[in-house]
Amino acid sequence: MMALEDLVVREEEGSKMEIDIKNKAENKLIFIVDSVDVSFLNALRRICTMEVPTITIEAVEIYKNNSTLFDEVLAHRLGLVPLISDLESTESILVPEECDCEDHCPRCSVSLVLKERGPKIVYSKDFSPTDPKIKPVYDTIPLLKLGEDEEVELEAIAQLGIGLEHAKWQPTTACAYRYYPLIKLDKSCEACGKCAEECPRGVLEFDEKKNKIKIVDLENCSMCKTCMSICEAGAIEVMPHEGKFIFRIETDGSLSPEEVLTSAGDILAGKSEKVVTFCKEGGS
Ligand code: SF4
Ligand code: SF4
Ligand SMILES: [Zn+2]
Repeated sequence: MMALEDLVVREEEGSKMEIDIKNKAENKLIFIVDSVDVSFLNALRRICTMEVPTITIEAVEIYKNNSTLFDEVLAHRLGLVPLISDLESTESILVPEECDCEDHCPRCSVSLVLKERGPKIVYSKDFSPTDPKIKPVYDTIPLLKLGEDEEVELEAIAQLGIGLEHAKWQPTTACAYRYYPLIKLDKSCEACGKCAEECPRGVLEFDEKKNKIKIVDLENCSMCKTCMSICEAGAIEVMPHEGKFIFRIETDGSLSPEEVLTSAGDILAGKSEKVVTFCKEGGS
């Protein structure tokens, strides 16, 4: 799998696309991308959300459940537990379509067993997976509450899938971009300071010493244009910066944002290569 840096270098070889990381946390990445076409960025966003595979609980065989939670509700809840899905952990698992079994087998699925007796709260850490690498991302997700002598015994079957099939396979909890703002101030500005007073996001500041408006937090501008409507002199203009965007991606922890982006880049490159091959072969 390519690293994010490789993706940047590869893009820079073919165009002047630049990426500047603004904020990076465990499951969150915000970066500024410049000199890029909106259609490319939108394709990348859609692939991140819809086509990057993760492993998720797909079927649940419930042998015993005398808790107050219905089987269907419990099965639905288990399907939403994010499982570690990095390439290293999932590379030996086949996607169900590529497996020749009828339903599921050890080649295309991982089984997670849950056998607990109350009174207790059953957490995601209580799963016993057949493959120790495929386990819940977080230990502390409450699954159900068992009262005195209540029992649950089940086997959950996890399989690879993509968000296009069902949202539970989406690795992203947020994946969006917006135009980078461009603010222009012209000489007709009368330095009244009203735009700074009315800006709801602290983007503008009135510098009393220099008697002029300063842009102090450009990237926080939502392009609401309140400043433009308040300015009687028509001295301020807010517009999108063509070809420059703020991209934000957050994941459920099954994959890191960098892993999602690099996987999406690989998928997009694979699709493009197919088109190139098709054209080179004369469209036959
Ligand atoms: S409201 Fe208009 S005139 Fe007043 S400081 Fe802002 S840009 Fe200048
Ligand atoms: S467009 Fe809205 S957020 Fe941006 S500077 Fe003007 S008032 Fe502030
Ligand atoms: Zn199989």
